[in-house]
Amino acid sequence: MALYQTYRPKDFRSVFGQAFVREVLQNALLQNRTVGAYLFHGSRWTGKTTVARILAKGVNCLALTTDGNPCGVCQNCLDADNGKLLDIIEIDAASNTGVDNIRDMIERAQFQPTQAPYKVYIIDEVHMLSKWAFNALLKTLEEPPKHVKFILATTEIQKIPDTIISRSQRYDFKRIKNEDIIERLHFIAHREKIEVEESALELIARLAKGGLRDAITLFEQYSAGGVLKRKYIEENLELIGEDFLLAFVKALIEKDTDQTLAHLISLRDKSLDVRLFLEQLLFFLRDRMKDSLKKIEFSSYAQLFEIFEGIYGRLKFTPDPFLLLETSVFRCIATSELSCLHTTLTPTPPQKEREAKKDGKSSSLPPRHASLGTEPVKEGIVSPSSPWTEPGLSGNSFDFSRFIEHIRTIPKRSFVWLGLRVSTYSEEGHTIVIHPDNDFNLSKLDSADVRLFLQETLDSLFGIGYTIDIRKWRASKSTGKSSQSLADDAMDIF
Ligand SMILES: [Zn+2]
Repeated sequence: MALYQTYRPKDFRSVFGQAFVREVLQNALLQNRTVGAYLFHGSRWTGKTTVARILAKGVNCLALTTDGNPCGVCQNCLDADNGKLLDIIEIDAASNTGVDNIRDMIERAQFQPTQAPYKVYIIDEVHMLSKWAFNALLKTLEEPPKHVKFILATTEIQKIPDTIISRSQRYDFKRIKNEDIIERLHFIAHREKIEVEESALELIARLAKGGLRDAITLFEQYSAGGVLKRKYIEENLELIGEDFLLAFVKALIEKDTDQTLAHLISLRDKSLDVRLFLEQLLFFLRDRMKDSLKKIEFSSYAQLFEIFEGIYGRLKFTPDPFLLLETSVFRCIATSELSCLHTTLTPTPPQKEREAKKDGKSSSLPPRHASLGTEPVKEGIVSPSSPWTEPGLSGNSFDFSRFIEHIRTIPKRSFVWLGLRVSTYSEEGHTIVIHPDNDFNLSKLDSADVRLFLQETLDSLFGIGYTIDIRKWRASKSTGKSSQSLADDAMDIF
């Protein structure tokens, strides 16, 4: 059994952090005042599902303890712990593709529980429910049968229809503090008799970003031999170690094409998670910025930070994160103006640089990405006349008609142009939101492929830093709150 399962809390006493949530729920159980629907919101691995299971056990426990905890020894508690209590139904809305199954399950809530006092539905990643399933859920929540409890968990509250939120009791789960994660890891290390280095635990806590389960998983992965050293983690994840990050950044600033390419190949060959790499790179750049506040190289680090932060923000829209990183790095070398460090570090041979620009960026690309890699940097998107610049810095602010006009000239993209021509747009900070005029155009424009294409075009014309979004226009909902199309659809029918 994995460590995180071994140390998964079975009652509120051993839940880590979330003191407020625990206290309120324990009191509700004690006073028999639990409600029909709970909504747990918080980032991943902050304990939402764990608390949901304990609560589900609590409402069905036959001998609740005096502090509001499930007893852990009655038949219902035992069955629940072994996953045998049929009246506790767990649904992962993110992985279950049988949309109708979920709806049927929710509709079956009308029937009496088989063994326990309550039928408890734990719906994880509830924002992924289809509008039909939301509809079924809402119908049940409007007239909740007495024997049913819903515990909805989500990482993305903005995608939950207001109608659902207003019928639930909402709890916000906080990210677990690094110190608390470290303390917990110390506890586990002590129990498991693992020798640990403090700095290794700090690195793990930072990598896990407030998620205890991620932290325990990393801990387990790197302490298999009974000893945990920071060096082990850095060796395995050497590509997010300081040395590699420094070399990577240096190559970019010096516009050293060969070196940069070599770094990209190592990243790809080790199948490093692009998100993890970018996160560590951003931390690294932030530290460099702090150290060079009054120095000439500050602005280079700051520019790189903005560039990679932009890429990070777009990860969720791309089917291939590595491809996004790769092409962005190529464009960075080809057109950015990271000149400040240029003079203070080793001078770049101008000849080499010119050649790299001239003969394209794909000469020694690895095979898997050879064809794909060149795609987004083809002529017409990035051309010498449209240098890649930072928004704001160059006064290159967004211009919708220029954007559309440019797309009109790109071959095989006329359907995008036609869709855009009859769309409106709005700016929300650095997000350009395109509002297609009808559902047909919405479906044409709102695909991963078109999003990526629009994003690339946006970058090439107006500099990295803008993010594209595509949403149906809803005049009545102009609160500026970011709502996604799923939630929109769901709300349209209510
Ligand atoms: Zn019990």
